[in-house]
Amino acid sequence: MPQFRQRSFIGVEPVGTPHFAIAISEHRAIAMPGGPFVVRPYVDLRTLALQGRLTPEELSIAGSARALSEWHANCRHCGHCGAATDMKDGGWRKKCFGCGKDFFPRTDPVVIMLVTHGEKCLISHEPRFKDYDVRLFSTLAGFLEPGEDIEHAVRREVKEEVGLEVGAVRYQESQPWPFPHSLMIGCVAEAKSAQLTLDPSEIAEARWVDRAELQLIMQKRHPEQIVAPGKHAIAYKLLMAFLQG
Ligand SMILES: [Zn+2]
Repeated sequence: MPQFRQRSFIGVEPVGTPHFAIAISEHRAIAMPGGPFVVRPYVDLRTLALQGRLTPEELSIAGSARALSEWHANCRHCGHCGAATDMKDGGWRKKCFGCGKDFFPRTDPVVIMLVTHGEKCLISHEPRFKDYDVRLFSTLAGFLEPGEDIEHAVRREVKEEVGLEVGAVRYQESQPWPFPHSLMIGCVAEAKSAQLTLDPSEIAEARWVDRAELQLIMQKRHPEQIVAPGKHAIAYKLLMAFLQG
């Protein structure tokens, strides 16, 4: 087993199994004696998550490891004085060699919201979604800005992306999404009207669907081959909650 200098301590399971994260690129692993055998096969965690192949517990452990590793890779120098940083507290803190400033891993909050109007909900297709044989439609989402609360972020994002005024906003549930370090905050937002004005840089297409049409989408039987995100995603849970009333 090659020696890896930088290891992060992820935690201990109730049964006593400890978990550590080792950040290593495929390129570095190949160059290392015995490396390819230690880290093979190379599988992207996001792909595993999207395929729903990990339990929530496994995804949580692997997600912490990935988020921490990503942070270490991007925080090698102090943003204040530029000196190198050193890993502390099992990888959960970095300290600057120069000015002594401490840095902690970051989490970026993202609001993801199901917008409803009467008996319909809004689904949208983003320009970045690739069209293959099917067309992916999801709920709206966007990053919280500094100084915002969750409700304000929901109202602002909905207004910016589809031009709708939103009334009541209700928090539903959240999900860590460590790609690289987001926390998805799932909400339901009631639109005051149904008239859409899209921001084409963010949203390629948006449409209101009733429960009958949403049912076809969730069952992958929609006549226009519209599909929704898979079971792993909080968008799926928001859409299913609406479908089930
Ligand atoms: Zn510094």
